[in-house]
Formats: sequence, structure tokens, C-alpha cells
Amino acid sequence: MSDSSVISSPSENNPRSDNDLVYPTNTEENDLKDSYPAFSEFEAAFKQYQRDTFQTFVVRRSESLGKTHPKADTLKYKKIEYECVHHKDYEKKGQGERIFTHSRKQKCPAIVKVAASIREATVRITKKEVGHNHPLTEERWKGLPENRRLSTTEADKVVSMQKSFVPTKAIQREMAKQTGKAVTSKDIINIRTKHDKVERGGRTEEEMVNHILNEIRRKDAGVFIDIVVSDAQKVTNITIITSEMQKNFNENYSLAFLDGTYKLNVENYCLYAVVVQDRHGHGRPVALGFMSSEKAAHVDAFFNAFKACHKT
Ligand SMILES: [Zn+2]
Repeated sequence: MSDSSVISSPSENNPRSDNDLVYPTNTEENDLKDSYPAFSEFEAAFKQYQRDTFQTFVVRRSESLGKTHPKADTLKYKKIEYECVHHKDYEKKGQGERIFTHSRKQKCPAIVKVAASIREATVRITKKEVGHNHPLTEERWKGLPENRRLSTTEADKVVSMQKSFVPTKAIQREMAKQTGKAVTSKDIINIRTKHDKVERGGRTEEEMVNHILNEIRRKDAGVFIDIVVSDAQKVTNITIITSEMQKNFNENYSLAFLDGTYKLNVENYCLYAVVVQDRHGHGRPVALGFMSSEKAAHVDAFFNAFKACHKT
């Protein structure tokens, strides 16, 4: 039976007979046992079983044993029920799940129910009905967001590559190869967005910049800070000239030179440093300028800020 014949089956609105259901194959080696000594062991086995048989279950409802229960650590749930991911109407969930556009309400009946047996101190499978009203193929399984999702360790790898400026497409290919997951470029970008938000403690970039500049002002009352914001509300220039830098310039002003430009950080901002030589031949910084690009206008803005600081 082909994929499409099941999806477009005219019996969509009629109760299906048991004959229509698709059961997992190749389960002999990795089939679930009747019981497990701990919930964590059941969970690991259940994960492996789903991977091997191309089934995807999600939690429908659960009832925990409660923190004070003597078996709470090992058995965890009084009961927990899983339903096939195709039980729900996937059309409403939006992009990335287009594979189910034609399926409308799938209402797959497959379920697995698990309950703690306090007397036996085990996690028991109390119901296992794994007949599905859709094909169980590797392709479908891999395309589901539930199965594409990268682990925390894998996501950390992504962020580390992103911080080294590896292009998104290359990261996507590498992670797909390493994990065997059908991860998309959009998934890769979303990992970064989520990571940055966590790293900034939920603050916007502007709030972060202000926070850091206020820290500098607090530590150095004489600091000169100039910020230029574009019409599009993007920070194009930040010039910082500390009291120490002002002193360096006033004492050695004859030998100023531009030390160089560095593409330093994730946003690709350049850092310019104006440096003077003291009488011992040592370089001393007299100004730092971050700019969003090396455009003449941005470099001009930096030097204008420098002049403004030393006007008096
Ligand atoms: Zn199903």
C-alpha cells in the first residue's frame, strides 16, 4: 500500500475497520517489555522502540506520584498516557508540518498507557494499542518536528559553530550527518535565536548595550560615550573614551595613529582603536570605536566623536 492511498483514503469520515490499521514491524528485538523497574528505564526503552518502528508518541495526560511519595524518584508517575502524534489535527500547527496537509483530522487511535505498580515497585504497561491509521515510514518519522529536534548537546554544537561564523547551510548539513535527524536551516536559525534570548536574560540588544554602558559610566565618571543610531533604529557607532584614554591623549597628542580594525563579534561590528606612543615607545589607547561597518560615514562619525571629546 502506498503512502498516498492511505492519506487520501475515502474512508476518512467513516469508522475504520481494524484491517485498515498499520502495525509496526521489526519489533521483535526492541519491543517493549511488560514492566520496568524505573520510569527512566521505561522512557529510554520507549524512545528506542519508537525510533526503531517509526512511531511517534506524545504525552496525552499524566498524573505524578507526588514529591513526598516514597517511590516518586524511581516510578515518577501514578499513570501516564501517550497518544500517537497523528491523533491531533496537524493542519493547524502551521509550517514545517506540511506533510500532513492532506490528512486533515487523522485521529490516529494508537495509544500506550503506563501505570506505577506500587506493590511490585515497577512501571507497568497497562495498555498498548499500536495500530495506526497512517503508514509508518522512516521518511515521515524523520520529518516530524518531534523527531527533528536536536538535543541540548547537539544544540550547543550548533551555537559554537555559529559563533565561529560557519554558514547556516553548512551547519545544517553537518548536524544532519552527525545526528541522522532531518534538521532544517530554519531549525538551525531558531536554535541561535533561542540561545541568544537566554544568554541575554530575555533583554533586548538595546537594553544590553545600555546596561553595559551604564556600568562603564558608574566605574568612570569622566568617560566620554557617544552613540549614533540610524533611522532604522540600529546602533551604527559606539565611541568610548575613558578618563585614562583622555589623559593618554593629552600627554602624548603628537603621535596618534589608528591601530587597526577587527571583526570581533557575532554582529560583525568593527573595532577601531586610536593609539598614541608614549615617551617610552609604548602604545597607549586614546579612543575605542565600535561601528556596524567600515563605511566612510561610520568612520567619520567616530572621528567626529573623538574631536567632540577633545574640543575643550
Ligand atoms: Zn499513528
